[in-house]
Amino acid sequence: MLKNAYLKRVYDDTVQNNPAQPEFLQAVGEVFESLETYVAARPELEKAGIMERLVEPDRMVTFRVAWEDDQGRVRVNRGYRVQFSSAIGPYKGGLRFHPSVNASIIKFLGFEQVFKNSLTSLPLGGAKGGSNFDPKGKSDGEVMRFCQSFMTELHRHIGARCDVPAGDIGVGGREIGFLFGQYKRLQNQFNGVLTGKGLRFGGSLARTEATGYGLLYFTQEMLRHLKNDSVAGKTIVISGSGNVAIYAVEKAQALGGKVIAMSDSQGYIHDPAGIRLDVVKQIKEVERGRIRTYAERVSGAEYHEGCRGIWSLPCDLALPCATQNELDLEGAKLLVANGVQLVAEGANMPSTAEAASYFQANGVLFGPAKAANAGGVATSGLEMSQNSIRRNWSFEEVDAKLHDIMVNIFRQAAEAAEACGVPGDLIVGANVAGFRKVADAMLSEGVY
Ligand code: NDP
Repeated sequence: MLKNAYLKRVYDDTVQNNPAQPEFLQAVGEVFESLETYVAARPELEKAGIMERLVEPDRMVTFRVAWEDDQGRVRVNRGYRVQFSSAIGPYKGGLRFHPSVNASIIKFLGFEQVFKNSLTSLPLGGAKGGSNFDPKGKSDGEVMRFCQSFMTELHRHIGARCDVPAGDIGVGGREIGFLFGQYKRLQNQFNGVLTGKGLRFGGSLARTEATGYGLLYFTQEMLRHLKNDSVAGKTIVISGSGNVAIYAVEKAQALGGKVIAMSDSQGYIHDPAGIRLDVVKQIKEVERGRIRTYAERVSGAEYHEGCRGIWSLPCDLALPCATQNELDLEGAKLLVANGVQLVAEGANMPSTAEAASYFQANGVLFGPAKAANAGGVATSGLEMSQNSIRRNWSFEEVDAKLHDIMVNIFRQAAEAAEACGVPGDLIVGANVAGFRKVADAMLSEGVY
């Protein structure tokens, strides 16, 4: 419940103006709650209408994406791009291809992206896009024709100095390649209009690994500063088995942690001996198969139907890396009862507001998504830098910069939390640290 009258008025108006957008309102509510103390101390923000302007994107386009399947039948999906804020840099944010995509989900992701990108300290504005297209079960030819049709509209709205999309759920290297090919064909320009590109055409080393690795760098920093501890020797549960989850497991293991479970949207695997990542990569990256196959191939591992059951496994660290609202109050209670010490979010808004509050109320260290998973977009920013100077940095150079950025994000969030009188509350800290830079830029740039 918001106490600050200005924030409450803007939130109530946002509810009125955005009916049937629960995920977007959830994200706005969470950010506003964290900003109460900060906004109350800066009355000039109300005078300049900063909050009203932040909840209303600069623009949002929706468009028809018509394409032909392998049987020659015409299929139609809906495409989206929301350009939320360019206050501190060109619009930047991923594309999601998943049947659940709608205006509410794209807007929640775009809104969050504004503050996350600010936290990276790179000059990046906030955006997001995608489609309700499901790449699962489609042939490469079908995915290519869909991507070409999608880009045939999207290319009018993006550009290397205007808006630079990347991947997200359902959009990996294959999709980015097809999208980039079509952009080039339409614009006759080879530039850094997308990130997450293949290494032979402008991609950055370590971009594939970046979100998962960054999550573990952030987790390590949380443990070191707040508990004088480390990832080494910890039992870890990581949900999901896509890009973020796989590279979170890789870095967790490299830091000496033991990951005992992973999941997909149908169920989870439990391997008490520790996940064999080579088997997961073969199933998910090569065969594009289901996580249940792991239990058929690795003795001692079990498969359980239903992805939420993963939170019933006792662990020291829980890293949700699948999707929004995958960890609710029930899951949070199970984790706390089983002694979890830290939760850090690899996915965007994976914990419900009730779950996040429950963790904090029970002394569990909590790393919110916009800080903990910012390594992906930060490395996309590094890909843009390499494209601009037409040079490629080595894996070690990019990884070292990613590490520094994640440590710096933790410091900014921890210092802002301290300044707001809630030391260790990284939800408040990340929101305040991300917000103040964007708000100050808006104050300087005049009313628009
Ligand atoms: P992927 O498509 O590579 O993997 C997504 C994973 O989540 C899959 O295991 C998928 O299972 C599972 N999943 C998807 N939808 C659901 C659902 N409704 N319920 C349960 N599980 C589900 O995506 P990413 O790994 O790239 O993204 C994962 C999360 O991380 C998302 O929240 C994304 O926004 C966020 N993120 C990603 C970044 C990136 O660089 N890729 C950067 C920052 C955040 P299944 O195969 O069964 O669908």
